[in-house]
Amino acid sequence: MVLDQNKINKLREIDIKPCGLLIDGKIKPSQSAETLDIFSPIDGTQLTTIASASHEDAALAVAAARRAFDDGRWCNMPPAARKQILFRWAELIEAEALELAVMGVRDNGTEISMALKAECGSAAATIRYYAEAIDKLYGQIAPTAPAFLGLVHNEPIGVVAAIIPWNFPLMIAAWKLGPALAAGNSVVLKPSEMASLSLLRLGELGLQAGLPDGVLNVVTGKGSDVGEALSHSMDVDVMVFTGSGATGRRLLEASARSNLKRCYLELGGKSANVVFADTKDLANAAKVSAAGIFRNSGQVCVAGSRLLVEKSVHDDFVAELAKCAADMKIGDPLDIDTQSGAVNNATQLAQNLAFVETAQSEGGTLYSGGKQLHEQTGGYYMEPTIITDVKKQHTVAQKEVFGPVLAVSTFKDEAEAIELANSTDFGLSGGLWTADISRAHKMTRAMRTGVVHVNTYGGADISVPMGGVKQSGNGHDKSLHAFDKYIDLKTAWIKL
Ligand code: NAD
Repeated sequence: MVLDQNKINKLREIDIKPCGLLIDGKIKPSQSAETLDIFSPIDGTQLTTIASASHEDAALAVAAARRAFDDGRWCNMPPAARKQILFRWAELIEAEALELAVMGVRDNGTEISMALKAECGSAAATIRYYAEAIDKLYGQIAPTAPAFLGLVHNEPIGVVAAIIPWNFPLMIAAWKLGPALAAGNSVVLKPSEMASLSLLRLGELGLQAGLPDGVLNVVTGKGSDVGEALSHSMDVDVMVFTGSGATGRRLLEASARSNLKRCYLELGGKSANVVFADTKDLANAAKVSAAGIFRNSGQVCVAGSRLLVEKSVHDDFVAELAKCAADMKIGDPLDIDTQSGAVNNATQLAQNLAFVETAQSEGGTLYSGGKQLHEQTGGYYMEPTIITDVKKQHTVAQKEVFGPVLAVSTFKDEAEAIELANSTDFGLSGGLWTADISRAHKMTRAMRTGVVHVNTYGGADISVPMGGVKQSGNGHDKSLHAFDKYIDLKTAWIKL
């Protein structure tokens, strides 16, 4: 889609009405009538209010999802009919992509050029990908002795609670909703209180596309209220989560304290982007690496937030990367030329700046950036920031910043590169730049992460799985492997 600045300027002026909850096919206020004020990170002004769902609302949403599952209105619908509804949903998302993208950007601050592609485009493509799979998933016949027949059926599991973060809400929600709904489950979706608006609209479009009432419910509000209620529910069968490690731990505890619901966690990262001196085009590597950490103000779970660069090319490479960073246009996320928009909220901005202070106090060198930008707008912006001389034990090398802060270290050989790359508790993603194909394969095997980007960074499409190892989580979004979280295998053992 060609971005039209005039259209965007009109859309950004539209008043957003106070938002309710989507439960059992109807938009309604919270039982407590409580609301949360929603502020835009673009300029700090209030955008609207959302319903602050309570424990009672969570229970109503789960009960609606349970009824929809138990009476089979969705899971027993012929696969071809379910497929058509999901196709229609994808079409509606595409038809409204610009409106959805602008509303999402006003809510969470992602630059519009990225939001349109990574949010709306990706959400529609994801829903369509799983819709296409609906009537192509076969059960199995086991290789048994002739006196028996062993059938393995694919069964939907039941009620799925999906808890979503504020970065890329549409894309990440679609990664859960696509396979969960295609498999026949019912869903209660809980957006982040920092990015709920586009997901509420996504739910409405789902209804419009023909999803039966109760199959998709959207409950907005605080993690500490409605999120806790979902995680402790005795009637949620599967909980899928993307967000921070701290929340992930609480969800595992809640599962253990309630009904042992399955719990799949996509958590944070501290991904190493490893650059060898033999890289064919170091200037291109620097450009892609800069985008890999600084786009969306670094609020990308797979961001290449640690740069490990071979000693002999360190100075030139960092200088080139800093030049690319300095050339990036940072600012109003609804300007189509902006390459990195706003930090999502004031707390996150303060944390980012504090990381820069700590990095220096521990011995790192502030090479460039490090300051807040455009303070006069009332919004939250930060310079792309490069810290050099980082040692593996430094806080900025160990903790996820989730902001535009790059920690740079050097290595002398492959062994040290592997040792440094694997020296955090995380294992979400990584990058690798080299012209040596053997080294690329060896390093890919040696890096303990769910994804390794080789001679590129980011952009892995829906056809490949995405998930972390170590404290970056478990289970996979994307690709047909995502169905594993939403499908139960049921065996029929038949004596002939
Ligand atoms: P967060 O953990 O603060 O919040 C995520 C969601 O959990 C929100 O909807 C929030 O309301 C809810 N929540 C908070 N407390 C809860 C509780 N006690 N019980 C139930 N729900 C609760 O994370 P965030 O700040 O929104 O997102 C940023 C984090 O997400 C970063 O760590 C980032 O790396 C991670 N992330 C990971 C991936 C991935 O695919 N691995 C993708 C995007 C973001």
